Amino acid sequence: MKPDDTLAGEMQRRGVSRRAFLKYGSYIASLMALPPSAVEALAEGLAAARRQSVIWLSFQECTGCTESLTRSYSPTLENLIFDFISLDYHETLMAVSGEAAEEARRAAMAANKGKYIVVVDGSVPMKDGGVYATIGGKTNHQILEDTVKDAFAVVAVGTCAAFGGLPKANPNPTGAVAISTLVAGKPMINISGCPPIPEAMTGALAYILSFGKLPELDHLSRPKAFFGETIHDRCYRRPYYERGEFANAFDDAGARQGHCLFKVGCKGPVTYNSCATTKWNGGVSFPIQSGHGCLGCSEPEFWDQGGFYRPLSTPLGAMGPALAGAALAGAALGVGAALSARSHQKHYLASLDKEKEKE
Ligand code: SF4
Ligand code: SF4
Repeated sequence: MKPDDTLAGEMQRRGVSRRAFLKYGSYIASLMALPPSAVEALAEGLAAARRQSVIWLSFQECTGCTESLTRSYSPTLENLIFDFISLDYHETLMAVSGEAAEEARRAAMAANKGKYIVVVDGSVPMKDGGVYATIGGKTNHQILEDTVKDAFAVVAVGTCAAFGGLPKANPNPTGAVAISTLVAGKPMINISGCPPIPEAMTGALAYILSFGKLPELDHLSRPKAFFGETIHDRCYRRPYYERGEFANAFDDAGARQGHCLFKVGCKGPVTYNSCATTKWNGGVSFPIQSGHGCLGCSEPEFWDQGGFYRPLSTPLGAMGPALAGAALAGAALGVGAALSARSHQKHYLASLDKEKEKE
């Protein structure tokens, strides 16, 4: 692609009509619940956008975030946009390696000083001088500082980059930290999830490309458009929750009838993400629709919250002191989540009473 091409022009060359492209822009705008006046502006802005330089850094991670964004089951506009913005440097995807790769990063930084976006997946190990992850003889921390200093914005992709994720899980052997703890004075977005939803990533980038600024963010710097509601808020099993109809095991009659998965550990009530509406694999399904509770993967410390299959508000007397502490802390998912966890505990206890009455 030539540097001065527009995104719509490039798409047309690849056989995507302008009309189809504008339709995609409207789709992204509707996913982000933008007001009608902004829908056309986003679509037009995206069509007119020129090549955005993106430098993608991968630190302590499993490549799942990159897989999520690039491994669609069929070619989609998201893939093409991803191609459009990710060509400068990506340690996992780029063809060159060694010193040539590092030179590509330096060249992209020099050519786009103050304008490039840094996308980061993975956490940064800080223990023992950061020796647990190095590239080209430099620690992840050194590479991050060097790359971010002339960036326009930083996007932390995945729960490892956003909150430390699995590398930070107890006992955190490498001293892993979130990207936000090391970046100051730059616009920054967290797109959490393990992995993150592709549309949340492309939607946030589409917004930046169209409007030249960050979308509205929540208190954890996540785009409100994708992280403004809990999974529970929009879950199609919610009527069962309200009626106190729960699956007690993954193979019982309740599970077969599609009852609420709260008692088998669903963390949907305290997890902010758009899985229940955007869904996965091009909108085909999401974990709860496939019969498995939400693990809370888009929230900080989700790995250390006392068990994926333990009900969120298990009565404290039924738990050991350590697990009870975790539940009391509202699964450490923030003050709002702590309050929410307590109200779900009440709901849970009421449902137990109901079951006793039935017996
Ligand atoms: S607890 Fe989980 S399965 Fe039940 S309604 Fe909430 S999000 Fe859906
Ligand atoms: S349903 Fe929950 S655990 Fe599953 S991907 Fe969505 S936020 Fe993560």
